[in-house]
Formats: sequence, C-alpha cells, structure tokens
Amino acid sequence: MSAGRFAPSPSGDLHIGNLRTALLAWLWARHSGRDFLLRIEDLDRVRPGAERRQLADLRAIGLDWDDEPLRQSERHASYAEALDQLERAGRTYQCFCSRREIRQAPTAPHAPPGAYPGTCRELTNAQSADLRRRRPAALRLRADVSKFVVQDEIHGSYEGAVDDFVLRRGDGVPAYNLAVVVDDAEQGVDQVVRGDDLLASSPRQAYLGGLLGAAIPTYVHVPLALNVTGRRLAKRDGAVTLEQLRQHGVDAFDLLARSWGLSGTSPVELLRSFDPTTQPTGPWVFRPPTSAGR
Ligand code: GLU
Repeated sequence: MSAGRFAPSPSGDLHIGNLRTALLAWLWARHSGRDFLLRIEDLDRVRPGAERRQLADLRAIGLDWDDEPLRQSERHASYAEALDQLERAGRTYQCFCSRREIRQAPTAPHAPPGAYPGTCRELTNAQSADLRRRRPAALRLRADVSKFVVQDEIHGSYEGAVDDFVLRRGDGVPAYNLAVVVDDAEQGVDQVVRGDDLLASSPRQAYLGGLLGAAIPTYVHVPLALNVTGRRLAKRDGAVTLEQLRQHGVDAFDLLARSWGLSGTSPVELLRSFDPTTQPTGPWVFRPPTSAGR
C-alpha cells in the first residue's frame, strides 16, 4: 500500500495553518494516487472533545480519508514490539538523566547542539540497578551515527543530527519519534507531508525506521503559517479556527486554496490544477479578521 497522512495531536481545535497543511497533505496524496490516512497522536496533550472537532473541521473543508483514523493510545502493543526488536538488537539503553543534568553535562566535541551527551550509555548493570532505585528509567536509542540524510521534495537533500534520542519516556509513554516511525510503517505511509517545524526530526525518524526495517518515506516539509509578527501562527492570534472564521463571515476554504496558489470550491476541484512542482515554498502570513471588518 502507498499512502500519505495527516497526524494531528488532539490538544485543541485545529487552526487555519493546521488545516492548510492538512489540505496540502491530502492534495499530495491524492495527486500521486495514494490513500490518505489520518492518525490521532493522542499519547500526550489530549483535550476532551478535540479529536471529534478536528475530524469535523477536516470534513468541513472537504477532506476525506481511507480507513478509520488510527489512534496512538490504542497501539501500545506495537510500540512495545518495536522496542523489543531494538532491545534484542542491542540498540537501546536505560537513561536516568534529568533534563537539567543533560543541560549541564559537558558535550562531546563535534556533537550537534542539544544532542544527548551519552552519560548513561556505558553504565554497568550494577550502576543501572542502583540508579533505578532512585528514578524511573527512560529508554534511549543506541545510535551509531551522528547525522543522517533525508530527501525532501522542498528542501532537497537534508542532513540532520541523530543522537541517542528517547524511545520511551521515564513515565513509560512511547516517545513521539518512536510512535511516528512505527505507525507510518504499519499504516503503509510512504509520503509524509507536514509542517517544516518537524524537518529537523526527520533524519532521526528515517534512521530509526531503517533500524526497524521500514522503508524511508518521501518527505515534504511545508512552511508553517505565520502571524503578522512573523511568528508561528497560534490560537492566541485571534480568529484562527474554522468556527471563528465562520463567525467573521470568512470563506476559509477559498482562503486555504488561495494560500497554495489554487482556486476552486472543493479539494477535488483543486486537484485539477494542483502541481506539486510549482508550490509556494515561502511562508504564508495570516492576518486574522477583526470584528471591525474582514
Ligand atoms: N502530531 C504532530 C503535530 O501535530 C505531527 C506529527 C507528524 O506529522 O509527524 O505536530
């Protein structure tokens, strides 16, 4: 199977920037004859009712998807299986560091900024047992590279840091990077269209996917919507959700279509003129309507 996807975290309502990325992910998938799948990334930060409203908003802008949305909270067995596989291959180790300790540890020469310094990499069994009594362990990947290159349809060949990143947090919750890789592989996702805030995570994910025997997807990291001050658009920027825009009489679909240089009244209609090679690659600035005018 060949599929694209959109993977929202149900932490609140989607704003126009999220919907814009979702529409583009749908266009890329459908244009290339792929399935389009949804995944609810609800391991963390869940707000009651948000999933239902997010799905309703995606439907309201005319998107459709194949299969039932996958919910990460129901997939612990798959994550545990992947962790087992990595553990058996000697690819994991327990880590007892707090964030503060990581920040304060001396960094290895040439290590990329923010990389885990490797403090717990070579602990003996006795040291681990002793530390475990004091603090729950996170599980980290034992990476054997410090960089990895992915191909991105917008950014070209992109090289980014890979460190011993966390696979399972100290509280037992699978880490985002693990869940994304396991789910994309299991859902047959071979095209990842998402915000470019995640570009820097893609080398880690692609590398981990390789260790788990997954094929590396095609990446398309699209510019995020910005507010008028040039920062990433957020709910606090005003009328940014579909409901709020509706209240201001704004035709959100038209706005979304034009933001991608397209015109039409439905996603299917946009497909006719959609050309992945002539997409705007710069940022899109959104000015929320005010009650004084549109
Ligand atoms: N759930 C993530 C988000 O809402 C997206 C993860 C992904 O697309 O890989 O930012």
